Amino acid sequence: MTAEEALEYIKSHPDGALQSDLWKALKIDSRKCSRIIAKLLKDNLISREVETVDGIRTYRLFYAEKARGRRFDPLLAVDCFEPCAGCIEECMPEHCAKLSEWIFSIVMGVEGEVAIEKVFTEKT
Ligand code: SF4
Repeated sequence: MTAEEALEYIKSHPDGALQSDLWKALKIDSRKCSRIIAKLLKDNLISREVETVDGIRTYRLFYAEKARGRRFDPLLAVDCFEPCAGCIEECMPEHCAKLSEWIFSIVMGVEGEVAIEKVFTEKT
């Protein structure tokens, strides 16, 4: 399993591919998938948004088209979009996991994201 195969899978899903589906489709473990995703993010080949599916937190991964501008860069942390933009949830910032994760992404960078994934996969 290579980053190129993961990128092809993501490219083939114009509406975005769930990370939780990616590692299953490519028959790799979630930890290895997280490392590949971190590399693709670092290379600016994909972007992602936090998504919850059946109560489980994952990411929707998008192929970063070259034509797409980077005008939203100020709202991105390690290619993770600022969660408050367009949010319609009842807001309690001090208890918001999405906001906490986004801030953690800013502080820790891609390596921090891999560390977070490692903690989540070890707990499950
Ligand atoms: S802090 Fe959380 S609930 Fe509030 S607007 Fe941001 S993402 Fe939405």
